[in-house]
Amino acid sequence: MKLLESYLAGRWQRGSGEPTPLVNPTTDETLAGASSEGLDLAEALRHGRDVGGPALRALSFAERAAALKAMSQVIHAERETLIEMGVSNAGNTRGDAKFDIDGATATLAAYAHFAKRLPETPFLPDGAGIKLGQSPRFHGQHVRVPRRGVALHINAFNFPAWGMMEKAACALLAGMPVLEKPGTPTALMAEHIAKVVVASGVLPEGAFQFLAGGAGDLLDHVEAQDVIAFTGSSGTAQRLRAHRAVVERGARINVEADSLNAVVLGADVDTDAEVFGMFVREVVREMTQKTGQKCTATRRIMVPEPLVDEVLEALTEGLGAIAVGDPSDSAYRMGPLTNRAQLESVQGGIARLAEHADVVCGGSKSLFDKGAFIAPTLLRAHDANTEVFHADEVFGPVASVLPYDGSAAEAARLVARGGGSLVTSVFSDDRKLPLDLALELAPWSGRVYLGSSKVAETATGAGLVLPAMTHGGPGRAGGGEELGGLRGLELYSQRTAIQGFKALVEGTFGEAEAG
Ligand code: NAP
Repeated sequence: MKLLESYLAGRWQRGSGEPTPLVNPTTDETLAGASSEGLDLAEALRHGRDVGGPALRALSFAERAAALKAMSQVIHAERETLIEMGVSNAGNTRGDAKFDIDGATATLAAYAHFAKRLPETPFLPDGAGIKLGQSPRFHGQHVRVPRRGVALHINAFNFPAWGMMEKAACALLAGMPVLEKPGTPTALMAEHIAKVVVASGVLPEGAFQFLAGGAGDLLDHVEAQDVIAFTGSSGTAQRLRAHRAVVERGARINVEADSLNAVVLGADVDTDAEVFGMFVREVVREMTQKTGQKCTATRRIMVPEPLVDEVLEALTEGLGAIAVGDPSDSAYRMGPLTNRAQLESVQGGIARLAEHADVVCGGSKSLFDKGAFIAPTLLRAHDANTEVFHADEVFGPVASVLPYDGSAAEAARLVARGGGSLVTSVFSDDRKLPLDLALELAPWSGRVYLGSSKVAETATGAGLVLPAMTHGGPGRAGGGEELGGLRGLELYSQRTAIQGFKALVEGTFGEAEAG
């Protein structure tokens, strides 16, 4: 059996001990294994801090940007191999795998582009200078400098390529070396990307390390200047937040966790309107792309009472057109869940929701004898207020229609019951409702997506995380923030207020005059 390798302290290494199997969820065949047992993770973090950090900081922003661009190119050159890995190890259709891989390369390229706005200095001026006393002589300027630790990226299983590279792009451009730890069940693709990046030599030694297998005692060696950027379940997030590395040593942590993303259909929408078609298309895609295993996938669909029957009919028809089967066969538009453990978890989730809802289509039965297949499942809540719909993230192709009275106040109240989400969508052609709703939804949503006939042809879809916009959400979604263009570098930088004699402070640290 192939054993995945880790790239730590300048060499490829394998852990000892019983490996965790990586399976093909279509056939249940074991493809590879991963173990991190016995690997010296303290040494890896030292290597990142002592070798990778200084080498990376010695590069200008423009040189780091060039490295990101080169990474994007070398990964893109392996696209076909990576797609095959997504199909075999993650149950991705080819389209699902491309979404992940192209998301990774596009984000790297986007950050290479954003960097054109960065100065030649080894720090970033942060805002304008400030007069601090009665006389203009005493002056202040905020600056941002790269933190001196390692950016430790712990990722979920659902985006082995994109999840890893969107974090790496921000950290590397900011000047922090990275240690990438993918979710183990789908790490085959992540390991291949790591091999390609290391072999390319586009980054200085120590700037990019890769850990295959469990995190082991990694957190025990995390220090004050390190950053932990985590994506995964809220249970794991709780453990990381409570770790001494964070609580006692003050390492910075960013969390991207569960999210019960909502879609609100406006009461103004007619079922023959263009925006209704957009709503149906988007809900079907957001429920079924990557078999519903997207952090931005739709879980709650708020529909005005009078429209519920027509919405259920349209969504059932749309979901019925998604053929489920072997993702390597282009006849099928949805593959299996990532593994049997995820299948059991989703089946349990559907059963919990179904205690308070009618199952309109799909259900918790597995579809075939082999593999982790389940049908797209739509439920209709008996009562939109029941807690389970707002608290239980079923990480698969599953969503519930929650009837509401059509008012903005009621829709906003229901969205807020989710305790914080990554994205909330509103579909309406009303001139006022989306704006009123956007302000009410904003405190509970990392992103508010306003779908209307005006953007039906051009909008990218609520599930697409764009590098120029922030990704993250409050509360249950983890309270984190990633990407957002150059804002994404802040996590990896220390903001410091420099105070002193104006000519000195302004001359050295102030923003350069625009040419
Ligand atoms: P998970 O079980 O929490 O695992 C996430 C990562 O944490 C994996 O790399 C896992 O490693 C690692 N991990 C587990 N225990 C750890 C520990 N004690 N110390 C350090 N690392 C540890 O989550 P998952 O099942 O992979 O992902 C599904 C969840 O991710 C869903 O809830 C989904 O909503 C969420 N998600 C959120 C976003 C977002 O942007 N908000 C994006 C994608 C997914 P192993 O795999 O080796 O156990």
